[in-house]
Amino acid sequence: MSLVAEILAIGTELLLGDIVNTNARFLSRRLAELGIEVYNHTVVGDNPKRIKEALDIAFKRADLVITTGGLGPTKDDLSKETISEFFNRDLVLDNRLYNELKDYLDKRNRSMSEGMKKQAYVPKDSLVLYNKTGTAPGIIIEEESRKIIILPGPPVEMEPMFLDQIEAYLEKYKEKTILSKTLNISGIGESMASDMVSNFLDSKNPTVAPYAKEGKTELRISAASSNEKNAKELIDDMENKLREILKDHVYGVNEETLEECVYKLLKENNKTISIAESCTGGLLSANLINVSGISSCLMESIVAYSNESKMNNNLVDQKTLEEYGAVSKETAIEMAKNIAIKNNTNIGISTTGIAGPEGGTKQKPVGLVYVGLYIDGQTYVKELNLFGGRRRIRTVGVALALDFLRRNLIKNKSLNLNS
Ligand code: ATP
Ligand code: MG
Repeated sequence: MSLVAEILAIGTELLLGDIVNTNARFLSRRLAELGIEVYNHTVVGDNPKRIKEALDIAFKRADLVITTGGLGPTKDDLSKETISEFFNRDLVLDNRLYNELKDYLDKRNRSMSEGMKKQAYVPKDSLVLYNKTGTAPGIIIEEESRKIIILPGPPVEMEPMFLDQIEAYLEKYKEKTILSKTLNISGIGESMASDMVSNFLDSKNPTVAPYAKEGKTELRISAASSNEKNAKELIDDMENKLREILKDHVYGVNEETLEECVYKLLKENNKTISIAESCTGGLLSANLINVSGISSCLMESIVAYSNESKMNNNLVDQKTLEEYGAVSKETAIEMAKNIAIKNNTNIGISTTGIAGPEGGTKQKPVGLVYVGLYIDGQTYVKELNLFGGRRRIRTVGVALALDFLRRNLIKNKSLNLNS
């Protein structure tokens, strides 16, 4: 039996824009993987009348409604009470919930408040979902044509509850398996990546869809099939075709990040690195330091923002600064080389540029960034011409600097293999 689901997020905080509805994103993604269609997302405040109206509308167009939020102990948490009324069900005390709650409070030397006790009540004849990461239970109410799954608001409670208990429950409604895999691409923009693989973009199964990210592009391959093995084969086959075209532009799959890829290459090639940053102000280092284990490769990182700092740290000669300026190929190369020599690392990488919005000239406009690179005695430089605001220029600059390093590490590796 196939199902249409609607996601109903409950919470005035969402309407005020205080929090983002990430629960809807999580649930939609999971439901898509289960092959359950979602036609509508709704958001409603903590208001009984409007919650009931939203339920009325939702059940006109869906068989299954999944709500999140409003299950906690406070007065404004009234999802469970309102939904029970909507389904004409009394709330009854669940002994297991009550005992667990009491146990939880006893351990913390707290007494049972009315609000707390309220959490042990569930609609009559419902399925109770025990909460391993919080106190409010989730609930499933089933009627012939209407089913509702009521989940807590905090993602740390909602997500494990969904993965551990709801997916198994929904298994019986699953008609087909949908699998997907993302190829992560850097160094070429979305339009170029799309052009390269344009033959595959209207493929029906699997589908291939490009998504532009700052400094990166994702290609998401999704396949539907009655069985998982076949879906996986469809994806593998498409992945091979895309990789044949995109080659080194692909740096990873799914959650893999560019900095993880760079770290892997550093380790494989036994290289150490140090960093001198100007316009990216530490962001390049912060990105690399996201990767655990990087301490075995990264020796030092300096943010040398002013000309004085660039000179005092012996990164750039005064002469170079006077002759070519701080934002120049020459400065970028000197910074990369000198930071590597200072730290005795194989690699030095540097950034220098104009992040804007002020400070650009005709010759050196806002968005001009140079990435300097030194690898075992060789120097390289890349000129970037970026658009956008200060934040975007820094973010994309860092992504492209990491990509430049990645490509040179791959190139060096193949040179070494050939020699
Ligand atoms: P609690 O027991 O913490 O009160 P609850 O089930 O009553 O949980 P809410 O009070 O509605 O849930 O929300 C609590 C918190 O959960 C919010 O402050 C927010 O951090 C998070 N949250 C709620 N709804 C969402 C949502 N749709 N997307 C992402 N986070 C959410
Ligand atoms: Mg609450």
